Amino acid sequence: MAPDTQKAKVVIIGAGPGGYVAAIRAAQLGSGVDLVEKELLGGTCLNRGCIPTKALLACAETMETIRDAEEYGIQVGDPVADLPAMVDRKEKISAQLRNGIAQLLKANKVRYVQGTGRITAPNEVTVTGDGGETKIETEKIIVATGSEPARLPTFDFDQPAILTSTTGLELRQIPKSMMIVGSGVVGSEFATIYNALGTKVTMLELLPRILPTEDDRVSQQMKRILNKKGIEIMTETTIEEMVEYKPTGVKAKLSNGETLEAEKLLVSIGRSLNSANLGLDDVGVELGKRGEIVVNDHLESSVPGIYAIGDVVGGILLAHVASFEGICAAENTMGMDSVMNYDVVPACIFTEPEIASVGCTPSKAEEKGIETRVGRFMFGGLGKALAMGKGQGFVQLVVDASTDKIVGCQIMSAHASDLIHEVALAIKMGITASDIGRTVHAHPSLAEAVMEAAEAAHDKAIHAAPARK
Ligand code: FAD
Repeated sequence: MAPDTQKAKVVIIGAGPGGYVAAIRAAQLGSGVDLVEKELLGGTCLNRGCIPTKALLACAETMETIRDAEEYGIQVGDPVADLPAMVDRKEKISAQLRNGIAQLLKANKVRYVQGTGRITAPNEVTVTGDGGETKIETEKIIVATGSEPARLPTFDFDQPAILTSTTGLELRQIPKSMMIVGSGVVGSEFATIYNALGTKVTMLELLPRILPTEDDRVSQQMKRILNKKGIEIMTETTIEEMVEYKPTGVKAKLSNGETLEAEKLLVSIGRSLNSANLGLDDVGVELGKRGEIVVNDHLESSVPGIYAIGDVVGGILLAHVASFEGICAAENTMGMDSVMNYDVVPACIFTEPEIASVGCTPSKAEEKGIETRVGRFMFGGLGKALAMGKGQGFVQLVVDASTDKIVGCQIMSAHASDLIHEVALAIKMGITASDIGRTVHAHPSLAEAVMEAAEAAHDKAIHAAPARK
């Protein structure tokens, strides 16, 4: 039987934070939009990434707050973690958000097509779903198929003890012990969750420091904090060989010669990009070495009319980047001239305390030949932080010495993911350290630390000792 044929102006493949945002933006501009999704609305972010981890991190933080209750003058017993209830809560939040997206798509008259999309011609997408095959003729295509946990052949992912970031969110029993391979953002967030639930966590990192892409000061402090929480960290160490898979766990031989056993082993070594089986080769879309779809600054691929956004273009693998790329690509499919700019992208890590950064670190600025002043302020000197019992961490503001403009910032603190946006806006608008330092900040607030760091760049912070001359 010949497949059904439909018509759309823009077809988007993948309904993660890239795809569904692109769909809404194209619809706002008056396009007929078909949004194709093979699994769940919201993609990785909403169903197995940003939101589920943050829901479980909120449970972890609540456990820690209860444990610390005595410090606040409150007597309570030891908290008991009910992981199935936590996982149910997390799933309820994801379902609520999925429902919200479905309503938004409906309100914007985006047609949601359930099934697996494949590009069968530069102006045609074929969707295979429960009802068979449908061919959609279209003027433009946006590929937003995202990424999946990367898998190494060292590990047998069919074994129940081996977890990815997806299955690590679905456990209903708290493991007694967990090895985490990879100490990047995902590994560190999982370590924070399971450590708070009572699991003995060991993190293995191939490189000399954890969170290797962060500023050195941030990784050193976070290492100390995680160690203090009882998380064991082995840097310059990896798994050489899996010695045994048992129903009760795994045994691994490490590169340092030791043997380590754990009930679960979570592999968080990065992402592989979903560009296979999409028909890209057949229509001539160029792929890079990692399978990323090569795009220009308008997010158009090597084939005119076919755009790509989000993780599958292999740039900065973050949900908000995917969404901004979605807006940019959608506008371009509608004849606008939108250029994607990656100069100011905040990135956050939801450990306890949180880490947030934007722009250059001091060493990155140096590499770029920028002469800098660095203003630092410690949360240990801030009234609000101490009142909250959150005195750990610092703000580090990187300032161009010749212009006084802010070029970067790293924050480690409670609510760092909220605080970073003042600086992101400052960098985008070309605001100087003096401007921030002389903007009245409410007292007592965590944001005062940003103001103090800006003043510290000129050695004028009121609540910090002057730098030694
Ligand atoms: P995805 O969200 O991966 O969505 C792609 C969608 O395409 C999926 O729904 C998939 O089913 C669908 N699809 C694939 N192929 C096809 C096909 N052929 N046909 C139809 N549909 C298809 N980022 C942050 O910014 N903040 C965070 O706190 C954060 N935490 C994270 C925590 C974890 C554990 C992980 C794994 C990631 C996290 N991320 C975070 C990253 C973030 O989730 C991704 O960058 C983001 O989801 C990428 O969006 P996307 O739209 O490109 O792809």
